[in-house]
Amino acid sequence: MGERDLLMIPGPIELEPSVLSRLAEKQRGHLDPVFMGRFSRTLKRLREVFQAPSAQPFVIAGTGTLAMELAAANLVQPGDHALVVNTGYFSDRMALMLERHGAAVTHVRATPGAAPSTAEVAAALATRKFQVLTVTHVDTSTGVLADVKAYASLAREHGALCVVDGVCSIGAEDLQQDAWGVDLALTASQKALGAPPGLAVVMAGPRALAAWKARTSPVRSVYLDFGEWLPVHQAYEALTPAYFATPAVNLISALEVSLELMLAEGLAARFARHVRVATAMRAGFEAMGLASLPQAGVRAHSLSALYYPAGVDAALVKAVGAQGVTIAGGLHPELKAKYFRVGHMGAVSANDVLATVSAVERSLVAAKVAVAPGAGVSAAERVLSGG
Ligand SMILES: *Cc1c(COP(=O)(O)O)cnc(C)c1O
Repeated sequence: MGERDLLMIPGPIELEPSVLSRLAEKQRGHLDPVFMGRFSRTLKRLREVFQAPSAQPFVIAGTGTLAMELAAANLVQPGDHALVVNTGYFSDRMALMLERHGAAVTHVRATPGAAPSTAEVAAALATRKFQVLTVTHVDTSTGVLADVKAYASLAREHGALCVVDGVCSIGAEDLQQDAWGVDLALTASQKALGAPPGLAVVMAGPRALAAWKARTSPVRSVYLDFGEWLPVHQAYEALTPAYFATPAVNLISALEVSLELMLAEGLAARFARHVRVATAMRAGFEAMGLASLPQAGVRAHSLSALYYPAGVDAALVKAVGAQGVTIAGGLHPELKAKYFRVGHMGAVSANDVLATVSAVERSLVAAKVAVAPGAGVSAAERVLSGG
């Protein structure tokens, strides 16, 4: 990848220069007052980004997968039942973790590109008592956006905790954790939060913390136990020294900057920008005759997943890369070889949309696909110009 190439995969993403320059600062100690101030502000800003004034934030060195396992390890005990609203690859991973931590898992599945209906989820919830319901807000393998608000309200009705994997959504899609009754939401630093990879972020609401406190069996991992991290996070937020395991000083300092930029833009404006960018991107791809993997009505705004046209395969991803734009191949096990993915979250701009659509278009023309040069770019441009 060249220095001026554009990174358009569903995480990690292009970062704002001010976020990157934070990483190049002098190394500070984890109890340095400057760092403690940054960590404290990071925790407070996360409550704003998740729209969760009542939640306890945890920011722990690791990836989104660690954030998922923190949820599973702390919220389920052997013998519990969990319902997984399954929209693809990352829902399967969540199920694996719930099972490893002792839960019996029931899936409500949809065909790839669709989401289970609320009626199907309600019917599953009515079959027995579930302690936990999990939803992948945006499934990165299919580009499906789940109706978290509706599923969360069903979970609440049936007395199950609602856990949301928001790794590919928080910071790009609206998630109102408190208002929608989501008990635990999680993400990672490298997706729509706009920071480098390496931080797991978990927001545990009051009911999730109460369930953890009421456990009758200990969390089966010391590193994963909320009990180790809670006093440390409370101390940092209050600017008092505490230690359990060294916080990722530089990454947290970079995340502080990206959260500041996010709140300065304003959540509503940020979500609207993601809608505009996604709509333009998709208009461009449609004008080139590419079919969307996610069905209409459940398409995420943080990434697009498109089927390759006839006669084209994963070599397209490489060809687009050679045109200066890095995109991603398929991920869903059943369809992997048949589609590609384009991430468009975080600092993504109108210029990035046009550069990406153009690179795909040039690659298709080079592959002798019947595409009129400019057709995709012009369709995307019309959306971006408000036409
Ligand atoms: C990327 C992603 C994950 C995993 O995050 P890692 O940082 O790669 O461990 C989990 N869930 C979703 C929805 C994701 O997009």
